[in-house]
Amino acid sequence: MENISIAIDGPASSGKSTVAKILANDFNFIYVDTGAMYRAITYLAIKHQIPFSDEAALAELTKQYPITFKQSAYGQLVFADNEEITQAIRQTDVTAAVSEVSSHGKVREELVEAQRQLAQKGGVVMDGRDIGTTVLPKAEVKIFLVASVEERAQRRYKENQEKGIKMDFEAIKEAIAKRDYLDSHREVSPLVQAADAELVDTTGMSIEQVVTKIKEVIYSKGF
Ligand code: C5P
Repeated sequence: MENISIAIDGPASSGKSTVAKILANDFNFIYVDTGAMYRAITYLAIKHQIPFSDEAALAELTKQYPITFKQSAYGQLVFADNEEITQAIRQTDVTAAVSEVSSHGKVREELVEAQRQLAQKGGVVMDGRDIGTTVLPKAEVKIFLVASVEERAQRRYKENQEKGIKMDFEAIKEAIAKRDYLDSHREVSPLVQAADAELVDTTGMSIEQVVTKIKEVIYSKGF
C-alpha cells in the first residue's frame, strides 16, 4: 500500500476508531485518534479548573501541554501533562464537556496543526469530525461513516456492559444525540460530509463488513 492518507469522519460512536485501527494495522499505517486530542484538552481543563467557555485559557492549555500517543501491547496510550490519560479521557465528565471545548476556534487551530504534523509523511488513518473537510482536505481516501442513533447507542451500551460500566440505555442515546447536535451545529469546522467523501452507512453491518467495504473504496481508487 502506498503512503496515502485515509480520513474517516462521522458522528459519535459510529465505529470510526474500531475500523480505523484495523485498517492502520492491516496497511501498517499510523492511526491518529483526533477525538482523543479534544478529550485530552477537556480532561486538562477539568484538572486545571479552566471553564469550558474560556477559549483563550483553553488555547493556552493546548499550547502548554502537547498530547502524545505511544503504542503498547494494550493498544495506543495517550499522554499529556506527564500523565497517562488513556482511560481518564473516556470518563463521562469528559464526554459530556468535550463538544463545548472543541467548539472553540483557537483550540481547534492548535490541534489541527498538531494533527497535520502527525500526518505529514502520509501512511496514516485519521478519524474525527473534520478530517476530510479541514485537517486533510487532500486526503486520497475520505470515508463518512454513519449509523442510526439507536444502533450506535446499542453498540455503546453493549461495550459498557462488557467493561462493567453501568449506564442507562436511554441516557446513552440522549448523550450521543446531544453530542451529534453540538458537533454538527458549531460555527468552526462542524461535522459535515466532505463533498468527495464516500458515505458508508454501517447500520446492520458487522465490523468486518465495514472494513471490507472501506477497502473496496480504497482499491477502487487504484491504491
Ligand atoms: O471521536 P470522539 O467521539 O472521541 O470525539 C470526542 C469529541 O471531540 C467529539 O464529540 C467532538 O466534539 C470532538 N472532535 C472534534 N473534531 C474532531 C474529533 C473530535 O471536534 N476531529
